[in-house]
Amino acid sequence: MAADCIFCKIVEGEIPADVVAESEHTLAFRDINPKAPVHVLVIPKVHHGDAAALASAEPAIAAELLAQTRAIATQEGHEDYNLVFNTGAGAGQTVFHAHVHLLAGVDVSRLFLA
Ligand code: AMP
Repeated sequence: MAADCIFCKIVEGEIPADVVAESEHTLAFRDINPKAPVHVLVIPKVHHGDAAALASAEPAIAAELLAQTRAIATQEGHEDYNLVFNTGAGAGQTVFHAHVHLLAGVDVSRLFLA
């Protein structure tokens, strides 16, 4: 656990969250400021600053996190969904504990089409 990390505190149960799924090494909960009808954050229970750091240090947990996204989307009633990894403050990352945004019910992919 990292000091003053809000997501570590959620993992430890020190801060409440709307948890939708849990696996051995991951936790998933609804984003407090949702940008889509389904907006879930999937995080590793272990602290790493971003998803790339997680993948370098613990690739099996990174894979578990990715696999969880499909299970959660299905649980939420969606076959199709987007994953967003904001990495670095300049890219909008505000919580420096690895996480992926699972977004469903909105076509984020249109942002990437000319
Ligand atoms: P990012 O900007 O990629 O670092 O995403 C951090 C996300 O965490 C934002 O979308 C916030 O709305 C969300 N967030 C911050 N605090 C909480 C919290 N206590 N419970 C749920 N989501 C949170």
